[in-house]
Order: sequence, then C-alpha cells, then structure tokens
Amino acid sequence: APGLYLVATPIGNLEDITLRALRVLRQADRIACEDTRQTQKLLNHFEIHTPTVSYHMHNEGSRTEELIAELKTGARIAVVSDAGTPGIADPGGQIVAAALAAGVDVFPIPGANAAISGLIASGLSTERFTFHSFLPAKAGQRKTALEDLVRGEVTHVFYEAPHRILDTLADIDAVFGPEQYIVIARELTKLHEEFLRGTVADLRSQLATRASVRGEIVLMLAPTSIESTSEDKKDKKTTLAAEISAM
Ligand code: SAM
Repeated sequence: APGLYLVATPIGNLEDITLRALRVLRQADRIACEDTRQTQKLLNHFEIHTPTVSYHMHNEGSRTEELIAELKTGARIAVVSDAGTPGIADPGGQIVAAALAAGVDVFPIPGANAAISGLIASGLSTERFTFHSFLPAKAGQRKTALEDLVRGEVTHVFYEAPHRILDTLADIDAVFGPEQYIVIARELTKLHEEFLRGTVADLRSQLATRASVRGEIVLMLAPTSIESTSEDKKDKKTTLAAEISAM
C-alpha cells in the first residue's frame, strides 16, 4: 500500500532484520536514510536495489517537503536510520507528523531497538520505565537532569557515549549515592556484547581499570525500591551471567 514506512534495522547483528523489513525495503519506491552510505552496506548485504535519498538532522525540513509531495502521489517511502528504530533518538518524528497532516498512511515496521534490548536483559523492572534518550553532554546540565528524575518504581533508561560514561557515573554517584544500582549494556547484539550490573561504586571502579571504554552504551538506573544487599547482588549477577552464557 502507498504510505510512509518506518523500518527498524539491526543495531549490530545483521540477522536482526525482519522478513517484513526486507520486503518493505525491496518494494519501496525510495528509502530515506539518515546516512545513505551506511544504509547502502545493509542493502548490499541483502541485495536490495531500491534507490536511496539522504534524510538527516540537517535536511529534515526541506527533505520532508519533497518526500511528502511524493507520498501524496501514492509513493511508498521507507525511512531508516543508521541503526535501530527510526524516530527513537533518531530522525523520523518530523516526517511522521507531516505525513499524518497530509493524510498519508504511516506504517511501523518494528525491529531492533537498543533501549528495549538493554532493558529486557538488564534484570531491572520492566513494569514501568522511562526512556530519556541522551543525557545532556554538559556537566552542569547533566547533573540537573539527573536531579530532576522522578524516582520510585521506575527504571530509567539512557543512551550514553562511551567517552562520557565515567563522568556520568560520577554524577549519578554524586546525586543518588554510591549504592545506587545500575546496569550498563554495551555493544548489544555484537561480538563483544557485555552487561555490567552493580552499584555505581562497583561499576566505576571496574570501568576505571580499563584503558578506555569503547562501544555503544545503554545505561539504566534501578528503581529506588532495589535494596541491594551484597548477597542479593551476588545472586542476581551469577544467575544472569549463567543465563547469558547458556545461550
Ligand atoms: N534509533 C536507535 C535505536 O532504536 O536504538 C538509537 C539511535 S541513537 C542515535 C544511538 C545510541 O543508541 C548509541 O549512542 C547508544 O547509546 C545506543 N545504541 C545503539 N546501538 C547500540 C548497541 N548495539 N548497544 C548498545 N547501545 C546501542
């Protein structure tokens, strides 16, 4: 059917693309990509020959107009970001709003997303969670953002850059104390996927021993209800580690 298709792509492991995503990308008239070169690698891998057009932060406004004009003539346009789900800490929101305003159908094609992937294997409550995208890069603003968090029974989920993670952990320590339980999910679905679970004090000292922290990171803050006695923590860590290695 004609319309705008928001297509999730893998966040590392290429097997995490859905059959439906492949079909939609193949059958689309055009694929609007955050970075055409990045998406071309994916398209080459799956032998998809659909034409691409760039659609990113800096041309979102003008491109949206062009694409909406095309959609109004009955085109099928797919939107993809570099990785994961478009519109989640990635371009997509603006064209969705414009498409709906123009009476164009919008179809989600679900798939990989780093926040949800990190959360479901974190061991933290998934009952109620808040996704914040990236914390502010500036130290002062980041601390204020942390202080403004509504705590309680809510797990907080953030994206974070590897070169900022130690500073952010220091801020979490300062705002919520060294016993705050956190989970870091690094390089999800990739060869060096890693989960670090523990108090902010534990994880700070663990990461400080590394020459550098690399890779992509989802950072999660446990609800305040987690009273992590060291025995609990050990149990939790070993169980989860065992489950993961059993895969
Ligand atoms: N739209 C994407 C999604 O659905 O997950 C997120 C795009 S956002 C610009 C990129 C950030 O997502 C990275 O800086 C990192 O924090 C997180 N991320 C993406 N891929 C990841 C992965 N494989 N492992 C851990 N975090 C990842």
